[in-house]
Amino acid sequence: MTPEEFRRLGHAFVDWAADYRAKVGERPVGPLTEPGAIRAQLPATPPEKGEPLDGALADLDRLVLPGLVHWQHPRYFGWFPSNGLEAGVLADFVSTTLGVIGLSWQSAPALTEIEEVVCDWMRQMCGLPGDFEGVIQDTASTATMVALICARERSTAYAAAGAGLQAQDRPLVIYASEQSHSSVDKAAAMAGFGREHLRRVPHGPDHAMLPDALDRMIREDLERGLRPCAVVASSGTTSVTAFDPLDAIAEVCERHGLWLHVDGAMAGSALILPEMRHWFAGVERADSLVINAHKWLGAPFDCTLYYVRDPEHLQRVMSTNPSYLRSTHDDEVKNYRDWGIPLGRRFRALKLWFVIREQGVEGLQARLRRDLDNARWLAEQVEVAPDWKVVTPVRLQTVCIRHEPEGLDGEALDRHTRSWADRVNASGAAWVTPAIVDGRWLVRVSIGAVATEREDVAAGWAAMRRAAEEEIA
Ligand SMILES: *Cc1c(COP(=O)(O)O)cnc(C)c1O
Repeated sequence: MTPEEFRRLGHAFVDWAADYRAKVGERPVGPLTEPGAIRAQLPATPPEKGEPLDGALADLDRLVLPGLVHWQHPRYFGWFPSNGLEAGVLADFVSTTLGVIGLSWQSAPALTEIEEVVCDWMRQMCGLPGDFEGVIQDTASTATMVALICARERSTAYAAAGAGLQAQDRPLVIYASEQSHSSVDKAAAMAGFGREHLRRVPHGPDHAMLPDALDRMIREDLERGLRPCAVVASSGTTSVTAFDPLDAIAEVCERHGLWLHVDGAMAGSALILPEMRHWFAGVERADSLVINAHKWLGAPFDCTLYYVRDPEHLQRVMSTNPSYLRSTHDDEVKNYRDWGIPLGRRFRALKLWFVIREQGVEGLQARLRRDLDNARWLAEQVEVAPDWKVVTPVRLQTVCIRHEPEGLDGEALDRHTRSWADRVNASGAAWVTPAIVDGRWLVRVSIGAVATEREDVAAGWAAMRRAAEEEIA
């Protein structure tokens, strides 16, 4: 592609992107497609000869857009918000344009130093203490796995440098609440603990981990000759946004010498609001913390912040030092390859940098507060509507609801819940996620797309009432 073609097509794609953002609210939120329908429209074999990319724009409209849930849609209330503010979209474009790889400080000094700065900006914005140092990872799943590997290495005095877990006589054990995210199960399996050594700590009626139960389980495991290693606490669980009591859990961890990893993947963004920090009391005692800037905050996927209190330990666990990656500056700089798993690193910091400078801390705070307000408003509407119920307390921007018409309970009620949720999603008017909580289906309405205003929440709520009525009619 010549520079002139790149310029012309680039303008066309930016126009397309701006139109998409401006008009996404006019589309159905969910996909209008059946499994295999998109694949069937693509050639089964690759083209022998290249062609100009102009046709690709039409294919985006024809093939791609109808085949998506539109996460940036104002009536998207699905799994969790995955906001990509325009400032971050442009940053991602720049990052890809530059095509630089942060193997080491030397390979892309600006990548490293901007990452240092934005991680520290975020630390300050979140009210975290000065001894927390951050690094950007791809996802919370990776960050949690890194945390469990670091915990494992602390418990085994760096076994991985020698014979590894295979030489350990006493199995290591991880603890997390029954409400913790599936990425914890995966990390425990991948980091070599084995799912069998992931203990499910019971929670109270508020779905928060019970620290006394945690303490009891640790003691039982010690008596059995096992080696308790780490606790993963959830600050904002996936189903109902419950907050595990970090202070009390940190107490238990300190008593028994366990690593404390805090999974704040979704709710961690709320740390930028001082009035929400009480939910995280004790976070400063954690060994590691993960926050997804690519969820509610607004940096386009992927952009996960991973904070640790002992960066030396992290580097000791993660570092390799082949000659071709060494430079004369290594004593004065950060080499982020030693702060995580991949060697090659994208310039993700640009996204966060552009987003924070364009929005300012105040801009980001105002939007999050708007969403919290909208969630409270929706909960009020649901509470006063006949036969509707807010099932769990609204702590953040997710409202868990159920329509409970007279005479329906048990599995019949579950069928009704899933049916009206499916009906909402199929209608294109809104997108919601059903989930099982305490053995019963409910519908999660997760508010927080950048485009979502009060009137969109009201329209979504109207679509839910309509769907539920149509179901019982
Ligand atoms: C979204 C989420 C995750 C997983 O995030 P990825 O970045 O997709 O790996 C983990 N924990 C919680 C609490 C989450 O909300």
